[in-house]
Amino acid sequence: MAKKAAANKSRQHVYFFGDGKADGNRHMKDLLGGKGSGLAEMTNAGLPVPPGFTISTAVCTIYYEQKAKIPAAIDREIEQNLKKLEKAAGATLGSTENPLLVSVRSGAKFSMPGMMDTILNLGLNDQAVEGLKNRTKNGRFAFDSYRRFIQMFGNVVLEIGKDAFEHEFEAVKKSTRAKLDTDLNEKALREVVARYKKVVKSKAGRDFPQDPHEQLKMARDAVFRSWMNARAIEYRRIYDIPDHIGTAVNVQMMVFGNTGDRSGTGVGFTRNPATGKKEFYGEFLINAQGEDVVAGIRTPQPIRELEQVMPKAYAQLRQITTRLEKHYKDVQDFEFTIQDERLFMLQTRSGKRTGHAAVVIATDLVAEKLLKPKEAILLVDPESLNQLLAPGFDPDEWKKIPTATKGLPASPGAASGQVVFTADDAVAWTQQGKQVILVRRETVPDDIHGMFVSQGILTATGGMTSHAAVVGRQMGKPSIVGAGALEIAESAKQFRVNGKTVKEGDYVSFDGLTGEVKLAQVASHPSEILQVLNKTLPAKKSVIYQRFEKLLDWADGVRRLGIRANADQPDQAELAYAFGARGIGLCRTEHMFFGEGRIPIVQRMILADNEADRRKALAELLPLQREDFYGVFKGMHGMPVTIRTIDPPLHEFLPKREDLMVDIAKLEATGQSGPELNEKKRLLQRVEQLHEFNPMLGHRGVRLGITYPEITEMQTRAIIEAACRLNKEGMKVVPEIMIPLVGLVKELRDQKAIVDRVAADVMKETGVKIKYLVGTMIEVPRGAETADQIASEAEFFSFGTNDLTQLTFGFSRDDVGKFLRIYQDKKILEKDPFASIDTEGVGAVVRTGVQLGRKTRKDLKLGICGEHGGDPASIHFFDKVGLDYVSASPYRIPVARLAAAQAALSVKVGD
Ligand code: PEP
Ligand code: MG
Repeated sequence: MAKKAAANKSRQHVYFFGDGKADGNRHMKDLLGGKGSGLAEMTNAGLPVPPGFTISTAVCTIYYEQKAKIPAAIDREIEQNLKKLEKAAGATLGSTENPLLVSVRSGAKFSMPGMMDTILNLGLNDQAVEGLKNRTKNGRFAFDSYRRFIQMFGNVVLEIGKDAFEHEFEAVKKSTRAKLDTDLNEKALREVVARYKKVVKSKAGRDFPQDPHEQLKMARDAVFRSWMNARAIEYRRIYDIPDHIGTAVNVQMMVFGNTGDRSGTGVGFTRNPATGKKEFYGEFLINAQGEDVVAGIRTPQPIRELEQVMPKAYAQLRQITTRLEKHYKDVQDFEFTIQDERLFMLQTRSGKRTGHAAVVIATDLVAEKLLKPKEAILLVDPESLNQLLAPGFDPDEWKKIPTATKGLPASPGAASGQVVFTADDAVAWTQQGKQVILVRRETVPDDIHGMFVSQGILTATGGMTSHAAVVGRQMGKPSIVGAGALEIAESAKQFRVNGKTVKEGDYVSFDGLTGEVKLAQVASHPSEILQVLNKTLPAKKSVIYQRFEKLLDWADGVRRLGIRANADQPDQAELAYAFGARGIGLCRTEHMFFGEGRIPIVQRMILADNEADRRKALAELLPLQREDFYGVFKGMHGMPVTIRTIDPPLHEFLPKREDLMVDIAKLEATGQSGPELNEKKRLLQRVEQLHEFNPMLGHRGVRLGITYPEITEMQTRAIIEAACRLNKEGMKVVPEIMIPLVGLVKELRDQKAIVDRVAADVMKETGVKIKYLVGTMIEVPRGAETADQIASEAEFFSFGTNDLTQLTFGFSRDDVGKFLRIYQDKKILEKDPFASIDTEGVGAVVRTGVQLGRKTRKDLKLGICGEHGGDPASIHFFDKVGLDYVSASPYRIPVARLAAAQAALSVKVGD
């Protein structure tokens, strides 16, 4: 850290933009944040951007390192840039003739909509406000700007509650008999300003700062502080954005969208971010300031209507944004302000989009020859593909229920659940296993935790680019906004619509693609893509499927890693194959033991106290397992299938000790005796014998095969018999038999001898010769550390990163939930290591296993089958470390295909 701070000192910390030239450019997102680099790039391109400067993210780091202090040298650099800005603007901070007003905005590398703070109209004081009045000849506007500034500054910088200001504002409205805010005249607004200054004095214990330079320093520091507010931290946790990167601060000359009816402000996208359709999309408000649109307080007009109101500004906006899209080769999300019919661009960046839109846009941009397939792959966040697999409503069921109201379709998808009215309730109800719909008048950034757990978000106000809409789309949450017919009484926890009252807990369903809301629970149906894969819908009838497949085909052409699935049923294997898996990386045979009618046989095997009885039970299981394997091999169309011998501790197949004790007590209390009671008692005795203090470290994995070799024998026989039969039928399958939890080469040697012996027997009996492999899981650290020895016996390794994480950290995978969140809150761990591989620790163990294993056996086949196999960040690591394939659950296969392609191109989406 100290070294880094020293390096920072020598660098430029403030980057100017204005007069057609900028210090920065689009490639400087790390330092300037998304907003700063976009402003620089637009300035360089000669677009109408109000001048300003960006204080870099490095200064944010320094601010935190130096305990909320900014070194004098950086202050000087800011002052120099301020001078430059005054020159470019032709106005001076605090001037009574021509005062410069600036906005102070956050802007991190990754956009975090509404999570951090912004201050507008900075520079106003008791003198400058008169200057603004003289220059604009508009006293009302000047004093409205001043009161807004005091309110924002008071709230954000001095941390005074909004209510204190609201209270005074309402009082003045009442005393002047004003109905709307806009009814207040200059005199009344002067009164508001005077009252606001008193609020500041009493609540903050100081006068409202009159020195604009002091205002700027304080605002800058408040923006830096907002990087660490609770909602920003929560947002970064959800989106995996590192805490250390910090935010930049953009200081920019204010332009005003609120000077009258020839002014306005708006936001938009060059394509529809919900559907991906190529259409100019967005909205604007006449006579309003920037924040009004995003905050969702007033419902704005669709952007197309701007054409009628201000045709020239509209044409220029169309031309500029089209140019920006071509320049960035991606959909742009832009902000603009029109001041007295003059257009200014305030932001451009890659637009956030739904998974559906991402696929449509990526394939369209290739069709339009703006991108090559290899580049298009990088436009889609692999995780967002999951949204395309989410269910929709059954159209017949949906039609039957009357539509209660319609809102703006902000984020597609079918949502159904019980109504809650606060984000905290959404979290609490979900924890009780309920599915909820969060209904709000409007959502605010503080609601993020509730939005995250809800099935969908429904708001009464706000437009397609309001907070709820932006965040909903990004999360892939079905969302409807601006459903104005909802009369929401949040405190009474109910709303009225169409003459009906809906209370907390009542069911509501809505379709985020059409905007229809219905007051009932509605069954959903599989997504279009799943319908195609399940062959209930022809591929040629589904446009989105065709695009999805095209994108993944491109990904397949680029990736190096093979993609397999974790599957242990024939239908899972079929689905995984349809999703594009070409092999099974893990078939957990014990899952098959839970199949219908099998548990009693498995229990008989476990309860046997001698080998003969155990063999009898195993003989009953043999044909069932053989059928299982036959089905799985077939479902995978002859692709490689890795089958793991039994792994979990045996008690998992037996009833719980407490349950048995209750049953026995009940039988005894009712005076029953006989075979049932005796059976239960015998079971209890065996359950007690098998009891382990720490079953995860107990009698499981290879240890079972060593103590009960007849289980390995039976499973091998079932696998080889099934494979021989298929080979006879013409499907050449090469089974890969995998021994779990090996830490000693001798364990593997012991089991391999059994496998080889039984396989030879079966081949002799059937007269069919097949090829098969024997390998092991590397999931205990000793296995990785001695991988050179183990590779002398193993023909393949599959890293079991679930157990490997458990054993490397010493965190029980079943109990980690009790403390993980606190570890994350305290920043001891950034991510859940069971979800995304800990590259430093567990990753290092994997790397050792790879290197030692390949030292002994050059052609050792290497894969991973822990949960990390479907996690994009982990897939990047596994690609780098040189594994041959990753194996993930069937639904994660599309994510893994795309992530593997991006890994091969060495780019993470968002970078
Ligand atoms: C693992 O440990 O990573 C693994 C795949 O095995 P299981 O989850 O069945 O223990
Ligand atoms: Mg394991």
